Amino acid sequence: MPSRKRSATRKQREEFEAGFTSLDGLFERAERAQGELDSRREAAYRSRSCERKMHYDTRADAEDAIARCEERGRHGLHCYRCEFCGGWHLTSRQG
Ligand SMILES: [Zn+2]
Repeated sequence: MPSRKRSATRKQREEFEAGFTSLDGLFERAERAQGELDSRREAAYRSRSCERKMHYDTRADAEDAIARCEERGRHGLHCYRCEFCGGWHLTSRQG
């Protein structure tokens, strides 16, 4: 029966569109959750790379600290300019 078939098709279409709508909502929620995750990651990165570290005002101060560490047998330290506070921190990782 053609009319019944058309009706079934329209029902499927409606369900499909309804599914799309709720998928959009899901996507928006996922994006918002991702944004929150990013800001938590940012905060964790900031804490790890800046707030929990010794702060040096100048590269010379940081290099001086590295030299003192090397005198005590702590080798492999590097300093880097901090993107958060504009000061200098030490890291044991290259770069
Ligand atoms: Zn910093």
